[in-house]
Amino acid sequence: MQIITTPQELQRFCLGLRARGKRIALVPTMGAFHAGHESLMRAAAATDAFVTVSLFVNPTQFGPNEDLAAYPRDTERDIATARAAGANLLFMPEPGAMYAPDHGTWVEVPELARTLCGASRPTHFRGVCTVVLKLFMLVQPHIAFFGEKDRQQLIILQRMARDLNVPVEIRGCPIVREPDGLALSSRNAYLAHEERAQAPQLHAGLLKARAARERGERRTETLRAVVREHWAKHLPLGQEDYLSIVDVHNLQPVDEVGENALLAAAVRLGGARLIDNILL
Ligand code: AMP
Repeated sequence: MQIITTPQELQRFCLGLRARGKRIALVPTMGAFHAGHESLMRAAAATDAFVTVSLFVNPTQFGPNEDLAAYPRDTERDIATARAAGANLLFMPEPGAMYAPDHGTWVEVPELARTLCGASRPTHFRGVCTVVLKLFMLVQPHIAFFGEKDRQQLIILQRMARDLNVPVEIRGCPIVREPDGLALSSRNAYLAHEERAQAPQLHAGLLKARAARERGERRTETLRAVVREHWAKHLPLGQEDYLSIVDVHNLQPVDEVGENALLAAAVRLGGARLIDNILL
């Protein structure tokens, strides 16, 4: 596995691959790898493409009071993990190399970025779209892999690529969970013992709503009440950020659950903000 640290060298190298007819896959990440990241890398490695993994804690997607400085970093371990998961190239730039001091161009999909996580993180998806488009321009991948754990991010990036005619296929990969149901996240490292013990109840609550849906309940308000009742009993340390049922294509709230309804939630638990989602 090759390691590249400057955008210029990455672009030169990837343009060379393209010129030789190679297909290129990209897996963008912020590092502190866990089995969720590995699943994306393995999915990329299962294609016939050259697998590029980017590891960049992107400052522009963090809000002023968020955890940029504290975000977990473990570069040596990440290098070994990426190599073992089938990466051919790891791109690890310094923040100063990715953004010029007078950087002034932003990519936004406001209509999709206002809801769910965007409501409490108003500049987050602008940072994500901008850095991912920059990575697309550097790597020029044929296919890029993102996790369904960040379902809103996946939908926004698919819309961005479509709207801007970016010639990339954006593929979503299933959420990887701990055996107790907690979705893997680099931020799970922030959880204290008691918080970690309650954290799986976030997902368990969502499953309660799905079970009610399967018994025939379609009303959004009733399904949300089912989740909140579960959380009140089993997730007392958690504080709801949002709990929404939206159309999976446009992320707009629905009153009645039909086809394509997505149940998405964020909960603050101690120093962590945990997100999860399931299709109903
Ligand atoms: P991050 O490093 O947190 O920015 O995540 C990099 C990529 O890994 C994103 O596309 C995430 O959606 C994906 N990812 C993170 N956690 C999981 C998980 N538990 N299951 C599947 N994909 C994940």
